[in-house]
Amino acid sequence: MFSRRTKIVATLGPATDPPGVLDSLVAAGIDCARLNCSHGTTEELRRRATEVRGAAARARRSVGLMFDLQGPKLRLAASIAPRIVQAGEIVTFFGGDAAVSDDRVAVDFADFPRLVSERSEIVIGDGVPRLVVESFGPGEVVARALSTGELAPRKGINVTYARPELPAITEKDLRDIALAAELGADFVALSFVRSAADIEQLRTLLEEHGWSGRTVAKIEKVEAYEHLDEIIAVADGVMVARGDYGVEAGVAHVPLMQKDTIYRATQAGKLVITATQMLESMIHAPEPTRAEATDVANAVIDGTSAVMLSAETSIGEYPVEAVREMSQLAEAAEEFPVIHGRARAGVRDTPAAAVMHAAVELAEELDAVALLVPTSLGGSPRACAKYRRRRPIIALPHEQAVADQLTLEWGVYARTMPISESVDELIESALLTAKDFAGLPTGARVIITAGRRTGATGATNLITVREIP
Ligand code: PEP
Repeated sequence: MFSRRTKIVATLGPATDPPGVLDSLVAAGIDCARLNCSHGTTEELRRRATEVRGAAARARRSVGLMFDLQGPKLRLAASIAPRIVQAGEIVTFFGGDAAVSDDRVAVDFADFPRLVSERSEIVIGDGVPRLVVESFGPGEVVARALSTGELAPRKGINVTYARPELPAITEKDLRDIALAAELGADFVALSFVRSAADIEQLRTLLEEHGWSGRTVAKIEKVEAYEHLDEIIAVADGVMVARGDYGVEAGVAHVPLMQKDTIYRATQAGKLVITATQMLESMIHAPEPTRAEATDVANAVIDGTSAVMLSAETSIGEYPVEAVREMSQLAEAAEEFPVIHGRARAGVRDTPAAAVMHAAVELAEELDAVALLVPTSLGGSPRACAKYRRRRPIIALPHEQAVADQLTLEWGVYARTMPISESVDELIESALLTAKDFAGLPTGARVIITAGRRTGATGATNLITVREIP
C-alpha cells in the first residue's frame, strides 16, 4: 500500500458487479470507486455505493466513493433518422423531439438555439461531424459540416462556447446530489463545468443536504479550461476529462491541456485526476499497449494525484488486471528522479502551511521512514502532498469520513485514531497507530506534526522527530 504514491480511481459497472470482483479491485489497489451517474438506475447507484463501503470494511482500508454527476449532457432527439452528414453540407438544428426532415435535426433540449453564440461549434458524438455555426435565431441554428460523420438518435451533441442558458445542474443531477449526500459520497464530480459559479452552486446544493465532502470539477469544456484558475480556486479538485475535452477542443489539444491542468492544480495544492482511455485497449485485452503504458507514466511524472479507469473496469473484460497494470505502471513511473510541477513553498504561506512544508523537508533531510500527520479535517496532510516528496504521509484523522476523503491525495495514507487530550498523548497515539497501520519497525525514525489545540483545524505548529517504539 505504501509503495505507490499516485492514486487509482476505478469506475464501477456491470463488469465489477459479479461477486468477488470489487474485493479483487480493492486488493489490486484501487483508492476510490467512481459511480458514473450517466449510467445505471438510482437503485444501482445505491447498491454499488453500499458494496464499496462493504469491500473497504472487509479489507480494513479506506476506499473513497465518488459520485460523478452527468451534468447538462445534450443529445440528439430519439426520433431522428440515422444518416451520414458530408463535409460541406448545411444542417439546421432546432430544439424539440419531433423529427421533421433529414436536413432539420431535432435536439432534445427545447431552448437549444438559445445556447449557441457567435463563437460556437457543434460537435456530434466522439468528434464527427463537427459543424461551424453559420447563423442562428430564436427558433433554429444553421451550421455547415467541417467533417463527415453520422447523426443518430440519442447521440451526444456538444456546443462550444455555449451561452449560460443551459443549467449547470439538471433535474437528474438534483436527484443524484440528494443520493450522494444521503450515502455520504466522499467526492462529487460535476460534468461540463463552465465556470467557478457552477461548482459554487454544486457545493451549496450539497451543503443544503448536510454534506461535507470534496467537490471535483471536470475540465472537459473549452470554457472551463479558459477559466481554470478560478475553478481550481473554488473546487477541491479537478479532473482532466480527456474524453469530452477531446470532443470539444479536438484531440490535438488534449495533451497540453492535461499537462497545464496538472501543473496548475498541483501548484495550488488541489487534487488532480487524469481520466479516460488510459488503458483503453484493456477493455478487450489482458495487457496494455506500450503507448498506454507511456501515457500513464507521463501523467505520473507530471505529478497527477490520481489516474482513472473508466470502461476498462466498468464494462471491460479484464477489470482486475487493468487495476494491477495501472498500479505497476504508476509505481514504476514514480522512480523518475523528480516529479515535474511539484509545488514550491510560497513566501506568503500561513504559519500552518510553512510548518507543513518544514516537516516535509525535515523528513527528507533526516531520511525518515514516514511523516505522521494527525489531522481533524485533512488540511495538514493535503498541505504536505503538493510537494510530491516520496516519504509516505500517514494521515491520522479522528473520523473515517475524513480518511476516505484523503484517499486521492498523492502519497497520503489515512488511518483513524481517537482524539487525544494532550500533545504528549497525541504523539504516543500517532506512533502506535502508524506502527500498526504501516508495519513500521521499532526504532524507525519518523517526523510527527502536532498542534497545541488537539482536534482543531489549522492549529499545527509543532514538529518532532521520534522513533517508533
Ligand atoms: C471524460 O469525458 O473524459 C469523462 C471523464 O467523463 P465521462 O466518463 O462522464 O464521459
